[in-house]
Amino acid sequence: MKEYILKGKTGDWEIVVGLEVHCQILSKSKLFSGSSTAFGSDANSNVSFVDAAMPGMLPVINKYCVEQAIKTGMGLNAKVNKVSEFARKNYFYADLPQGYQISQFDKPIIGEGYVEIDFNDGTSKTIGVERLHLEQDAGKSLHNEDPNKSYIDLNRSGVALMEIVSKPDMRSPEEAGLYLRKLRSIVRYLGTCDGNMDEGSMRCDVNVSVRPKGSDELRTRCEMKNVNSVRFAMQAIEYEAKRHIEVYENGGDIHQETRAFDATTGTTKSLRSKENAHDYRYFPEPDLLPLILSDEQIDKAKGEMVELPDEKKARFIKDMGLSSYDASVLTVEKETADYFEEAAKGNDAKKTANWVTSELFAVLKNSNKTISESPVSAKSLGGLVALISNNTISGKIAKDVFEIMIETGKDALSIVEEKGLKQVTDTGAIEAIIDKVIESSPENVTLYKSGKDKLMGWFVGQVMKESRGKANPGMVNKLLKEKLG
Ligand code: MN
Repeated sequence: MKEYILKGKTGDWEIVVGLEVHCQILSKSKLFSGSSTAFGSDANSNVSFVDAAMPGMLPVINKYCVEQAIKTGMGLNAKVNKVSEFARKNYFYADLPQGYQISQFDKPIIGEGYVEIDFNDGTSKTIGVERLHLEQDAGKSLHNEDPNKSYIDLNRSGVALMEIVSKPDMRSPEEAGLYLRKLRSIVRYLGTCDGNMDEGSMRCDVNVSVRPKGSDELRTRCEMKNVNSVRFAMQAIEYEAKRHIEVYENGGDIHQETRAFDATTGTTKSLRSKENAHDYRYFPEPDLLPLILSDEQIDKAKGEMVELPDEKKARFIKDMGLSSYDASVLTVEKETADYFEEAAKGNDAKKTANWVTSELFAVLKNSNKTISESPVSAKSLGGLVALISNNTISGKIAKDVFEIMIETGKDALSIVEEKGLKQVTDTGAIEAIIDKVIESSPENVTLYKSGKDKLMGWFVGQVMKESRGKANPGMVNKLLKEKLG
């Protein structure tokens, strides 16, 4: 973990970041109605009378969404509140037909918890979670369909959101990026949110302030709303922090406001002065009873918990001997972790991890594929690693075999047999090649014997070349040393 300091004219500054992340709950229907949540449906095709706020309509809580929130709370190591309450958050917006959002205010379903973030150098840091509350999403205004009109699509109106509020514990753009990625990883493992920021099912409000290094005051913050990628969130933090420092150092003051991040310029601009809680005139939602969780509901969620990225990472390090870095990389996505475990069955775990994180990741990156679309199956890759471990092929030949596997989809062993790539481990055969090389270059033999040790590498290279890469390198080294005495 590196300390992140911004240098100003008047001294060193540090950044204080807190994030509010809206995660759309994975569920078939909305939080208070039976309408579908399907993404990409025709505009206004998934709208019930409740979602359209017709007079007299009453919300009915979706039990499944509540269970998803409990599981997420457990994944955040957080306190599950057996009694919570819904509240009306009043504001006027064209795509909010109710004129208020049903949210939770002073009694959220989930209380304090924490998320562990992991740095590349193997160190970690704990980021506090303040709360998680349930709320409904608003509709969507479409401004680009007509030059004179705006259109409203209410498909998203009433979709269930979990708003996860962190403590102001992050001190750099990097920490915020790691937190967002870890959060996304956790909800994806749990299956409570798909974490697709580009589809808007995970959106981030970024709160930034700065203070002189060493101080523990909390200065006025500015909030960037609905940032839709990890990279943008990191850019917004850096830009905003530098802006604050400049204002302070020129004798100015920062006012609390909501700003927008412009991804094309990498800058932020003011939208409006920030609302405070009292601006929303919160009051308990009269159409819903307090949400009381039963022991059965909590036990059910416990029973459905899966091994989360941190636990998996710890197991990969402890039981499989992986480095902290490899274990982190392999556990970000559950699919990657599953792939790796399948490939490592009966194999050397470290060797398998290297193949997944270097060779396979490179192929996936170049072909823009996810691991579930990998052209080489986990079992197949495991087969290749096994052939290296039992000395059937060398690591170098394995790379050629891997390329053929990607092109043809065939398994490693059949390619090795078909192309005659088996490693030569027969002493006699290797000796014959060595004799040939020695015979054809007497000058180098003389030079080597006169003390030019470096030529050993040249001899090894010649023998490997002569064997078309198939000679066992260890044996070549050993036999050459004997022969050249
Ligand atoms: Mn919210």
